[in-house]
Amino acid sequence: MRGLERSLRDWCENEGVRWRRELGLYAYDPLPSQRLAQHLEIPVFSPTEIPGIEAQILQRLLEEESAWSAITLPVSQGKHIVIYNPTHATTRHESDVMHELAHLLLGHQPIRFHQVSGTIPVREYRTADEKAAEYLGGCLQITARGLDWAFQRNMTRREIAKHFGASSQMVRYRCNMTGYSKR
Ligand SMILES: [Zn+2]
Repeated sequence: MRGLERSLRDWCENEGVRWRRELGLYAYDPLPSQRLAQHLEIPVFSPTEIPGIEAQILQRLLEEESAWSAITLPVSQGKHIVIYNPTHATTRHESDVMHELAHLLLGHQPIRFHQVSGTIPVREYRTADEKAAEYLGGCLQITARGLDWAFQRNMTRREIAKHFGASSQMVRYRCNMTGYSKR
C-alpha cells in the first residue's frame, strides 16, 4: 500500500519511538525537529542565522520564498547543516526540517541538484526516496502510539496538531497512514 514496503514502514514507525526514547521522551511526547537535529549534531538555521552569509544571497533566499522549503548542505567530513525557510509557518518548518533529517537518517543520496537563487543547491532524490522520507518525517513528528494515546484521550485533530507542533495536514497524513481515518 502507498508504495512503501511494509518492513520499511515498520522501521520508520519504530524510529519515531526510538529517537524519543534516546532523548528520554515517551512515544506520545512531541519531538521538536530542533531537538532531534541537535541530538544528531545537525545544525539547523534560518538563513538570517547563517554566520557570514552574503547579504545578496540572504535577500534572494528570503525573496524567493515559494521556491524552497528546507535545504540540506554538506559542510565537512560527511556532516550536514539544514536551512529552513523562515517565511513559512512554524508547523511547516517542523515537517520540512524533519523531512530533511529523514533523508539523512535514511542515507539517501541525491540524484541531482537544482539551484535556488542561482547559488543554493537543492537536492533532488529518487521518487521512492522522497516517499520514504515523507513517511519517516511523519513518524518522527507523530508516532502511531502517540495517535493511539491522543485518540484514547478523545483529543480532536486540532488538539493533536497543537500537541505535536504539527500542521493539520500532517495530522491528516498520519491518520491516513495509520488507518485512523477509517476507524
Ligand atoms: Zn525530500
